[in-house]
Amino acid sequence: MTDSPAPLPDRSGRPTLTVVVPVFNEEETVGPFLEVVDPLLRKLDCSHRYVFVDDGSHDRTVAALRDLQRDYQEISIVVLSRNFGKEAALTAGLDQAEGDLVVIMDVDLQDPPELIETFLERWREGYDIAFGLRSSRESDSLAKRLTAKGFYTIFNWIAREPIPFNAGDYRMMDRKVVSEIRRLRERNRFMKGLMAWPGFKSTAVPFVRPPREAGESSWNYWKLWNFALDGITGFSMAPLRLWLYVGAFIAFVSLLFAGYIVIKGLFFGTDVPGYASLMVAIAFFGGVQLLTLGLIGEYLGRIFQEVKQRPIYIIDKVLEAEEKESAAP
Ligand code: UDP
Ligand code: MG
Repeated sequence: MTDSPAPLPDRSGRPTLTVVVPVFNEEETVGPFLEVVDPLLRKLDCSHRYVFVDDGSHDRTVAALRDLQRDYQEISIVVLSRNFGKEAALTAGLDQAEGDLVVIMDVDLQDPPELIETFLERWREGYDIAFGLRSSRESDSLAKRLTAKGFYTIFNWIAREPIPFNAGDYRMMDRKVVSEIRRLRERNRFMKGLMAWPGFKSTAVPFVRPPREAGESSWNYWKLWNFALDGITGFSMAPLRLWLYVGAFIAFVSLLFAGYIVIKGLFFGTDVPGYASLMVAIAFFGGVQLLTLGLIGEYLGRIFQEVKQRPIYIIDKVLEAEEKESAAP
């Protein structure tokens, strides 16, 4: 790419905006969400729609949304056939979203809706992606903050397309970005990475993340760990390559050590003991080999996931307002 300024696309008109919201057991949050977000969107110079993706909720989330559709005609409800996880639900939402602009946000109001106005301004200035950047994680526990920091550091260290520190999923994207993201059909859905991968002009909008409004976060550390693993193995070969260097280093040291033992044996005779060093070597190499094997298994498992070519999500039904029901495509 050259640095010559691209002709500014005309972004002065009234764009259509789709808000994609994945929901999982959120019967008590969807109402308050719309009460806050809708008036804000109405004030903006754009027309808007909502795509709520019900990620296999066990509670009355769909019924609650159905009720809300009476007051908010702009709602489409995409009901998945079971819980596929937030990343798959987001994918479903992006696939369904129409319009010039797509905003994705959580339903628990942890993504301050006022930011959408700023996102829109940035888009008019010519940015294709405007994303929320958490300038403080005070609402998170220290442990969560530390693990998050560790993850971003490692990810950006080894992945080609870095993801900004403390950027969440909350963002506004131009249609062309969404179209590119839609083409990424891998099963390993690390959305933050997938959304960064196509590139385009992006800008950060800092905000302070408030604690969850109602309901409970459905993340725990085990889920977060697996999420991080998906992120790293899905976007980097570095963990696989690392062992080449570890192996080379160990082999080199072993060679020196072997030379030392041979020379020592030749000139000073063998000393029988050596038990300790043998055990250390066996334990060490055993550990290294198991670790490497586990790591290869991790990638192999992911290759297995990909080659099966299963759908990323399954839509049970799409519910539009005014009681008209359309079947899944
Ligand atoms: N979510 C989802 N599927 C899941 C878990 C969560 O669609 O399996 C949705 C949830 O309803 C919410 C968003 O993802 O709108 C973020 O979830 P949560 O607030 O639990 O995550 P956190 O804010 O702790 O990252
Ligand atoms: Mg949340």
